[in-house]
Amino acid sequence: MRNGDAASSFSSTFRTYLLTDRPSLAGMAVTGALERLRAANQRTLLALLASEGAMSRADLVRGTGLSRTTVSSLVADLIGSGHITETTARGRPHKGGSGRPPLLVTLSTPAGGVAGVDIGHGHVRVALADRTGTVLSEEHTLVDVDAHGTLVLDRAATMVRDLVSAAGLDPAYLQAVGMCVPAPLDRRSSRIRTDIMPGWHGMLPGEELERRLGVPVHADNDANLGALAEVHHGIARGRHDVIYLKVASGLGAGIVLGGRLHRGASGIAGEIGHVQVGEDGQVCRCGNRGCLETSVAAPRLLELLQPAYDETLSVDEVLELDAAGDAGVRRVLTDAGRTVGRAVADLANSLNPELVVLGGSLGAAPSLLTGLRGSIDRYAQPDTAAAVEVVAGDLGDRAEVVGAVALAIATVAA
Ligand SMILES: [Zn+2]
Repeated sequence: MRNGDAASSFSSTFRTYLLTDRPSLAGMAVTGALERLRAANQRTLLALLASEGAMSRADLVRGTGLSRTTVSSLVADLIGSGHITETTARGRPHKGGSGRPPLLVTLSTPAGGVAGVDIGHGHVRVALADRTGTVLSEEHTLVDVDAHGTLVLDRAATMVRDLVSAAGLDPAYLQAVGMCVPAPLDRRSSRIRTDIMPGWHGMLPGEELERRLGVPVHADNDANLGALAEVHHGIARGRHDVIYLKVASGLGAGIVLGGRLHRGASGIAGEIGHVQVGEDGQVCRCGNRGCLETSVAAPRLLELLQPAYDETLSVDEVLELDAAGDAGVRRVLTDAGRTVGRAVADLANSLNPELVVLGGSLGAAPSLLTGLRGSIDRYAQPDTAAAVEVVAGDLGDRAEVVGAVALAIATVAA
C-alpha cells in the first residue's frame, strides 16, 4: 500500500512542530501514536470506500464515526497521494435540502484488471473486472464439469481470453485470475484430492489454468469464495460469524469465524454435503452412502418432482413454481430445507453463528429457507437458534464468481 506517503508528510510537519516547541522524548512518543492513529483512520476510510463505492464526505463522517475535520483532512491527503479521486457524479443534497449536492469521492482505479472463474458441477461462469471489482463483462455456459478437467479448463481459458478481446482490451490488461472449483482443495498444495470429481483427481486446477493464461491464478473452493463475496459485497457485510450454504448441483458450506474464512487444517472445512443422514441411503459421488448431498442437491430434487409435471423441469422453473406457491414444489423444497437444517443446526450448536446465508442456484427458493429455519429452530439449542438469522444471499448464483474476482483483486493489491 502507498498509505505511508500521506501519513509521513503529515508526521514530518508535526514532528517539526514538536521538535521546535517541545523537544522531549514524551513528544516523540506522541508523534508515533498519532502517526499510527492517522494511518489506521486512512485504512478505515479506504476500506469503507472499497465496500460502499463512491461516497460524499458527509457519508464518510457517518460511516467512519470520525469528525468532519478529520475526514476532510484525510480525504485531501488521499487525493494528493492518488489513492482516491473526486468524481463528477454528485450525491443527493442532505436531509432533503435544496443546497448543491455534495461531490463524491471514490477509490482511484489502478491500471489493469482481473478475471474471476467459477467452475460448478454443471457450469462455467467467467467475469472480467477492473481493479475496483466493477464487473465489465460476464459469460456463462452449461457444461458437464466433473468428468472433464482438462477440457473444462481449456474452455474456461478461452472464455477469459474472449472476454478480454471482446472488451477491446490488450491481453496484458489481465493481471491475475481468481477461480473456484466445487471440491475441497488441499490447503498446502492446492491439489484436488477427493474422488468427488473423477476427471479432476490429483489435478492442480490453479496451476493448470495459469499455464493456459500466462497470468497468476489463485484457486479456492466454491463455497469459500461464495462466503467471501457475501461478506465483502453482499448481505453478510459487517458480519463476523457466518455460515454460507451453497445449494446447487452439490451442497457445500463456507464458514467465516471472527471475520475470517475458516479453511481448517487441510482446507476441507465446510464439507457439509457429505454429512451422513442415512446409512443405507443413495451412493454419493464421494463413495459413502446417504450423504446429505444425495437427498437435497438440485439433480435429486428435479428427479423427485419430475414425475408430477408434464414439462421438463429446470432449476429456474422450480424457482418460479415455488414463488408462485406450487404445492408439490413447496413440499419438496421445504423438506429439503428441513434436511439441510438438521445438519446446520448441529453446526450452529458448535459455532454459534449470527447469520446463515443461503446461496447457490437454489438459494433463492423461499420454501428451502422456510424449511431450513424450521429445523434450526427445532434442533439447535434455543439460545443458538435465537442468535442466528437465516437469509437468502444478495448475490444469488453469481456469488462464487464475485468472490473469485475479489480473491484476484486481493492478490494484486497485496
Ligand atoms: Zn458424499
